[in-house]
Amino acid sequence: MLHPENDPEYKGLTVNSGVAPVSIVNPYLKRGRFARKKMSVTDYVEGILRGDVTVLGQAVTLVESTHPDHQQVAQEVIEKCLPYSGKSIRVGISGVPGAGKSTSIDEFGVHVLKEYGGKLAVLAIDPSSERTKGSILGDKTRMEKLSVHPDSFIRPSPSAGSLGGVARKTRESIILCEAAGFDKIFVETVGVGQSETACHSMVDFFLLIQLAGTGDELQGIKRGIMEMADGIVINKCDGNNVEKCQLAANQFRNALHLFPMPESGWTPKVLTYSGFFGYGVKEVWDMVYQYFDFVKENGYFEFRRQEQAKYWMYESVNEQLRNSFYHQPTIADMLKASEKDVLEGRKTSFVAAKQLLDAYFALLH
Ligand code: GDP
Repeated sequence: MLHPENDPEYKGLTVNSGVAPVSIVNPYLKRGRFARKKMSVTDYVEGILRGDVTVLGQAVTLVESTHPDHQQVAQEVIEKCLPYSGKSIRVGISGVPGAGKSTSIDEFGVHVLKEYGGKLAVLAIDPSSERTKGSILGDKTRMEKLSVHPDSFIRPSPSAGSLGGVARKTRESIILCEAAGFDKIFVETVGVGQSETACHSMVDFFLLIQLAGTGDELQGIKRGIMEMADGIVINKCDGNNVEKCQLAANQFRNALHLFPMPESGWTPKVLTYSGFFGYGVKEVWDMVYQYFDFVKENGYFEFRRQEQAKYWMYESVNEQLRNSFYHQPTIADMLKASEKDVLEGRKTSFVAAKQLLDAYFALLH
């Protein structure tokens, strides 16, 4: 007696011929039809001027690229966008890690867009990128409200290259953002020194976020950074921290009195606020806008921008000279040996440098 399944006549388990599996590639799709078209300078420029944030993002990527071809296109795009840029307010926002920059920028951004309309781009200069390859500011989107706001564009810091290079890229991105209709630019930077100078050299107002109660209110702050600030704001003025913040604000006010009057003629103000709870945010921005009225009236706004343009021309020359020198293969070979000569006392630093430069200039002829 056969099991029914072993019966040659049994039909139950025979496999039907079925339907041929569908190709994962659509045969009707012409090759490359959906591949991203290589964009021309005109495509970028038109997209940017249209306010297309996808194109703006791609153009910023191009600016940040170290590939020479990308650089070439990027420079042409920037040049064409330049006449449409400049009509914005640029605010630098700085503070040590944990000062509450991202929380504040989120709150500030929403406030400014609500009160003053327009569009806001948030860019960054992260000085850690070069040395540690890590970032202090972090690449994750930390601004929850702004990141979903239809009128904002947030971009983390460019990551490759020297601080000068990173800063230049941020500055060039500002031009593109402005050409795309962003009339408010925030440049975030971490409060650890040099990057602030770079940030200061591309913004109209430099806002320094401080904390109270860290015990080193005044000692810990480099004089140079305080001197750069057009406004100092003490964050986390909430809960049982209010009194300490007010005390710190007074200390800052007293310290600022000792500084000479800034060139702008504007006396930097010190305010307290809470980025987390939104207390005092309005007052901070009333102050920033008061500053703009003041410096537009006395001509300093335009003067500062011109000084910055000049500064960036020289910075750019310096950067290109440096790159050309260090990337010259013969020089690159000579460097190690020269370094050794200096370390082992066979040559002075000055002589070694002169020999390297002489060799470089000889190679140029
Ligand atoms: P960043 O490193 O400067 O960007 O600082 P974050 O915005 O990431 O803030 C660091 C920490 O401080 C987080 O835990 C925040 O929740 C907290 N924080 C930020 N702003 C305030 C504030 O106004 N009040 C209080 N109490 N905490 C805040």
